[in-house]
Amino acid sequence: MSASTHTLLVATSNPGKIRELRAMIPDGVRVVSLAEVGLGLPPETGSSFGEIAEQKAQFAAAATGMVALADDSGLEVEALGGEPGVRSARYAGEPPDEARNRKLLLDQLAARPLSERGARFVCAVTIASPSGLVWTSEGELRGTIFDRERGTGGFGYDSVFLLPDGRTVAELLDEEKNTMSHRANAMARLLPKLPAAFRAHDSAVSAPQ
Ligand code: IMP
Repeated sequence: MSASTHTLLVATSNPGKIRELRAMIPDGVRVVSLAEVGLGLPPETGSSFGEIAEQKAQFAAAATGMVALADDSGLEVEALGGEPGVRSARYAGEPPDEARNRKLLLDQLAARPLSERGARFVCAVTIASPSGLVWTSEGELRGTIFDRERGTGGFGYDSVFLLPDGRTVAELLDEEKNTMSHRANAMARLLPKLPAAFRAHDSAVSAPQ
């Protein structure tokens, strides 16, 4: 692959995710966002992170003719039977509001000691080529839901997600989060597939009509 000639559409409008994903994509790849190509995604209909990531990436690839990468991610809390799960962005209702989501989560767990607040972040990432090829990987990050917010970094539930070392994810430097997060784990498995996705794109573009 001559990476410098390739463009990857990152199919998310979440600024926190775009920042993290951009930092994980190899330097030679040109990254463009949904906003830059003027595309919006349809409402999510899948019931698993993997299914939703695939729908987003396939939609974006088909709509633009570009290789597209999409992420679907969220928080699963054991004591809540895996909630908020795929509803993480809209846990406290519409319109999506991260501060209200965190408050609702802390309220739901108020009676539970830290020992009963086990949780994990889950991320599925998909690369789709416009010719219909799809690659998906998953990653997770395990921790505990804290009893209050702490830290100013990251986004979403980071300030209530406590790591085994006693820091919340919002207390990590971006570089630290990007080496250990659910998104980083999923991307480490997926990125080796990127050259095959670009090859599929290039051969479809150069094939005689
Ligand atoms: P979706 O993938 O766009 O459906 O939304 C994922 C939601 O899960 C985000 O809005 C956040 O609330 C939460 N989430 C996903 N990844 C992270 C993360 O790395 N840190 C904190 N919250 C996250």
